[in-house]
Amino acid sequence: MSSDVGVCLRHYRELVKSGRYKASSREAAECLSLLFGRSIAVGEEMRLDELMPKPRAHRVYDSPLELLTAGWPTPLLKVSGPPKEAYAKLEWYNPFSASVKDRTVYYLLRSVEGERVVEVSSGNVAVALAAVGNVLGKKVKVYIPTAGRYVAPFLDFLGVEYQVLDVSMTVEALEHLQKDIREGAVHPNQFGNDLNFIAHLRTAAELDWQLSSVGRRPDYIIAGLGTSGHASALGFYFGVKYGTKLIGVQPRDWIPGVRRVETGMKWIPLVEAEIVEVSLREALEGVREFARKTGLLIGPSAGAVYKAFTAQRHDGVYVLIFPDSLMKYALLLEQLR
Ligand code: PLP
Repeated sequence: MSSDVGVCLRHYRELVKSGRYKASSREAAECLSLLFGRSIAVGEEMRLDELMPKPRAHRVYDSPLELLTAGWPTPLLKVSGPPKEAYAKLEWYNPFSASVKDRTVYYLLRSVEGERVVEVSSGNVAVALAAVGNVLGKKVKVYIPTAGRYVAPFLDFLGVEYQVLDVSMTVEALEHLQKDIREGAVHPNQFGNDLNFIAHLRTAAELDWQLSSVGRRPDYIIAGLGTSGHASALGFYFGVKYGTKLIGVQPRDWIPGVRRVETGMKWIPLVEAEIVEVSLREALEGVREFARKTGLLIGPSAGAVYKAFTAQRHDGVYVLIFPDSLMKYALLLEQLR
């Protein structure tokens, strides 16, 4: 799969368009197996609604991992409109890193066969890997760029090894992994592993199901770009199904969790997207405006998404992806005062 995600997307496109799809070749069966997270045989027919999580109505769970796998969907909150109607997807309701990255990391870690895992991350992935790694019995080590050091206390409590590096971007930390890899650690590689993108192809069905329950389909999705896995997958699914337009948010200067497109992203080229820019100052203004309107403390990149939404001129149904909340950023905010 990691060799050619495009091949798999052909099968996924048909599944999304028709609502069901028969794995009539080995290639199709392999793609569907990756998507559905279980082994699917040639000849088996899958339904799109089976991609959705099966929530526990009473929210009683047997294991920490079930908080993730049976705790979905994360809430979808109507925040404005019509005529410019918006629904925010509150991803800090994921249990481990309190961010969208629980989904990615769960998919990535399940595919890792060895016991030792090494990764670079500026924040949420580090926490999610440490947490899910504890549950799955993996020994995790993370390298963090300087700007991500605000997650260090969480990593201490979770008991994983980490090293803060004197580099400004997560991708620049990649070379530091080589020694660990030579010594047998597996690198899940959130920037290049298609399972990151695939995790969110499932999320898309979840969001579709939520919106359909209130009779809506999105005209626009606004999401921040980090690895681009999340935004690209949502853009692909909703683009195929409803012709939805993706608006990707990149930082003008620096906003934790998101990057500029020219720094290199694997999946955004697979979809059509309009790219908009938001500065850190504007993003924090977005956080402030949203907190005063709703009482909810959203993370800086969610603030950027909200700010990008307020700048939009067109009426229609918008989905705003809020990757995390403000709570994790206490140390960072203190430094910015
Ligand atoms: N984590 C945070 C804090 C983010 O702000 C974002 C995007 O806005 C993401 C993760 C999503 O990143 P990715 O593009 O890697 O899926």
